[in-house]
Amino acid sequence: MTGGAGFVGSNLVRVVLREAPYADIRVIDDFSTGLERNLTDLDVELIRGSILDCDALARAVAGCDAIVHLAALPSVPRSIADPVSSHAANATGTLSVLEAARRADVPHVVVASSSSVYGANPVLPKNELLWTRPLSPYAVSKLSTEAYALAYQASYGLSTLAFRFFNIYGPGQRHDHPYAAVIPRFVHAVLNGDRVLVHGDGLQSRDFTYVETVCRVLLDAVARSVHHDQPVNLAFGTRTDLRTVLTELEQITGRPIEPTFAAPRPGDVRHSQADNTSLRQLFPDVVSTPLAEGLRATVDWFRGCVVTPESEAAGFIVEHASHDQAYSVTTSQA
Ligand code: NAD
Repeated sequence: MTGGAGFVGSNLVRVVLREAPYADIRVIDDFSTGLERNLTDLDVELIRGSILDCDALARAVAGCDAIVHLAALPSVPRSIADPVSSHAANATGTLSVLEAARRADVPHVVVASSSSVYGANPVLPKNELLWTRPLSPYAVSKLSTEAYALAYQASYGLSTLAFRFFNIYGPGQRHDHPYAAVIPRFVHAVLNGDRVLVHGDGLQSRDFTYVETVCRVLLDAVARSVHHDQPVNLAFGTRTDLRTVLTELEQITGRPIEPTFAAPRPGDVRHSQADNTSLRQLFPDVVSTPLAEGLRATVDWFRGCVVTPESEAAGFIVEHASHDQAYSVTTSQA
């Protein structure tokens, strides 16, 4: 697995260890956005290195039956601030992973693309045959991710599957950097009594997917070597605006929320909603966790964060206190 110390990756490691304990997991991660302690005490072989380092990557893929390629520099605003780094990690990095897989005869590669590739296309819901028009360097890099994966299938017969993730949320997602996703930012702010900042009018909508659901699909894809000659949306066709997310959080936390509205962020799309016909055909047994349930689990996870004098002194002000999860997160830098 590439990027296994990140949000989706570290959740996937836990799901695999729980559901497929016979599997050996090897992770390559350079911790550029992920946290090494996300994998603390988990039975994985960890290679500390970049997918852009050919030697480290060759060691990471040697002898594997499948690769789940999650490593990337995510975030639209990050890519607008630094497009070259996003391209290197996401586009060149994907090419490197596919090439390493080809050279090492790894038979199956699953890659993570993004709904951001639809960009300026206003049609809802999004089906995978619609035209794409990326609005940010990140979206271009993800279009390249999926295009390379499908080109390796056509050119070399490599079995590949390119998922378009929509907005994933859940335990372990970082709230503490400038490019943090909206749900962990909201949850952390609400629980800490901080200002809840909404970019735009809050009526922009997303197809939120709970991380456990995503990880179950990824595991099933690997277990059954599912491949496809088109990208596959990994979301469930629900569309929730940010004001509704805040209303749900008010109900779950019992705290009134009065958001502050700021200018929309450049590169953000207004609405996003998946057509999941392909997903349903390829993964007929998949069951999606409803938003209210997933949000409750996410709030519970954030509530398990406690302040300790040691972590505060070290700059990591909150640590996860749950007994069965080894996650920890740092406080907002803002
Ligand atoms: P994340 O930032 O938490 O995880 C990415 C991981 O990749 C991190 O652990 C990071 O350290 C690692 N990484 C980055 N560059 C690397 C490199 N050069 N070499 C090795 N490791 C490297 O992000 P995430 O939310 O877990 O996203 C996982 C994947 O899903 C990414 O490819 C992302 O683009 C894609 N995606 C995520 C979402 C979402 O909502 N979370 C939506 C669409 C697509």
